[in-house]
Amino acid sequence: MRSIHFRTRLLVAFWLVLIPAVCVPAIYIFKTLEGEILTETKTRAFNQLELAHWLVRQQFPFNDPETMDQWISRLGDKLDYRITLVESGGRVLADSAIAYPKIAEMDSHLYREEIMGARKEGIAQNIRYSTTLKRKMIYAAKPLALPGDPQAIIRVAIPISNIESRLSFYANRFWISLAAIFILTLFISFILARRLEIPINKVIQASREIGEGNLDRRLEIEDSPEFKQLSTCINQMADKIQHHIGMIDEQKQELEAVLEGMREGVMLLDKNGRIKSINRALTGIARCVPSCIGYRPMEVFLNPEIQKACNEVIAGKPLKSLRVAIENDIFYELNLVKIPDGGAVAVFHDISELIRLEKVRQDFVANVSHELRTPLTSIKGYAETLMDPKLRASKEAETFIQPILKNANQMSNIVKDLLELTRQQQKQQDSLRLVPVDAAESFQSAWETCMPMAEQKNIQVLNQLSGPVMVNADTNSLTQVFRNLLDNAIRHSPSNTSVTVFAIDESDHFVFAVSDEGQGIAMRHQKRVFERFYRVDKERSRASGGTGLGLAICRHAVKAMGGEIWVKSPPDGRSKGSVFFFTLNKAGQNQNRKTYDDSDG
Ligand code: ADP
Repeated sequence: MRSIHFRTRLLVAFWLVLIPAVCVPAIYIFKTLEGEILTETKTRAFNQLELAHWLVRQQFPFNDPETMDQWISRLGDKLDYRITLVESGGRVLADSAIAYPKIAEMDSHLYREEIMGARKEGIAQNIRYSTTLKRKMIYAAKPLALPGDPQAIIRVAIPISNIESRLSFYANRFWISLAAIFILTLFISFILARRLEIPINKVIQASREIGEGNLDRRLEIEDSPEFKQLSTCINQMADKIQHHIGMIDEQKQELEAVLEGMREGVMLLDKNGRIKSINRALTGIARCVPSCIGYRPMEVFLNPEIQKACNEVIAGKPLKSLRVAIENDIFYELNLVKIPDGGAVAVFHDISELIRLEKVRQDFVANVSHELRTPLTSIKGYAETLMDPKLRASKEAETFIQPILKNANQMSNIVKDLLELTRQQQKQQDSLRLVPVDAAESFQSAWETCMPMAEQKNIQVLNQLSGPVMVNADTNSLTQVFRNLLDNAIRHSPSNTSVTVFAIDESDHFVFAVSDEGQGIAMRHQKRVFERFYRVDKERSRASGGTGLGLAICRHAVKAMGGEIWVKSPPDGRSKGSVFFFTLNKAGQNQNRKTYDDSDG
């Protein structure tokens, strides 16, 4: 419905108040006036009747009826009203308004109300329309004793239209005044509306702008007390809204910053189970990009378990926590909680590392058990055989004791290496203190340990570390690294070959190399030989006294000292053998230590 303009409504309201306020008293005055004029006319009619009665009586007797009619006609003209003389039978004897010849044709007036009233009451009045004169008249009649007719009646008739013309005169004045009042109210309402409209429009405009988000908008304070109060209220309201929205914004930004800064992926679901928002960490998970807003978790993660958990939590089941694998080897712990608006919050915590470490630990325990079981089974078998007293006394006993000793040594080596590995890991955790160490000296002590085996296999060790090679290191760890690499090179090389040790001077670090002419390591094993208990050929390694932990110890030690270790097999330009490289920072250089994981176990 089209809204009516404020000005029109004000005008209609004005008029609605004015019409009854003006018309009711006006009608009352008219009615009173009409009554008074009528009363006055009636009184006048009686007075005129008395006058006519007296004059007619004075004038009697007339010579003939015509003379009487003529005299009455003249009297009627003079007094300006109609005079009628009616005989007791109702016949009209004379009438001032009718010519004498026509009097005989007039109806009987016997049953005219005023005539009957005059007969009954002595004097009577009546107001009605005169068919003879074609106008509304007031009639007054009373008996007039004539010679020969004592019951005759004299009647006067005064036109009532005099009253109506007077009333219509007043009515006209009234209508003109009313019209003037209406026109005046039109102007007043127009001016009032204009005066109200301007501040109201300002209030509407300002409220609309504030509602649309322009929170800096304020109203000018008006002069009129009502609008002054209104504009103050609106301004105060805008202040409060601005303050609250500012607070909400601030909290939102803080929350967003927290969510964005979280390493955990966070996903907000609406009450229909569709994604409402995600944080940056979650964008790295599966296909969960910002464009996934509005999708269901199933469509994004392609994982029915996640979808089921979301559905359950949104349906009102309590907090849910589950482990899910979204991609290969990437596991998340998903925590879901319902939020008051009916949706849910899902937090993805990456537990891949935890699971991997768990597995590494399990593998490690399995490996240790396996490594120790083999020599133990041997020892047990030979020891049981030796229980036989006959065998113990024989010379063959010695051939049984030898494997026991060998296997016990193997176990002792494993335990020793395990302890060394643990020590290296401990050093790693305790942040090894590196000092300037001469690598040539460390190698010398390592070589002294390995010399018997080298001599036994007639392997020549060529030490090319000339002069002090100062590096940032831990003496024991560096000696251990050289010892393990040298030991491996000698063990995995055939007799009568040579092992070379040298260092390459790089700008801020040295690259040390232990090169042999042995069987080498196939490409597919090269990365894995640094893992705990990883051996290319288990039996051969065991037979040569290897534990499978030597390179793992080297790796830990080198990393702890801020270097890298790797193998190249065969070395460049050769068809066999392998060369193990490791780097160490030069003494005095910044310790370029990297944190690393012991993922190989
Ligand atoms: P192990 O005690 O068995 O030698 P390591 O951890 O020292 O254990 O070495 C792991 C595996 O790497 C060995 O079993 C061996 O197969 C291989 N390997 C290590 N050094 C050499 C080398 N110089 N030449 C050939 N293979 C080697």
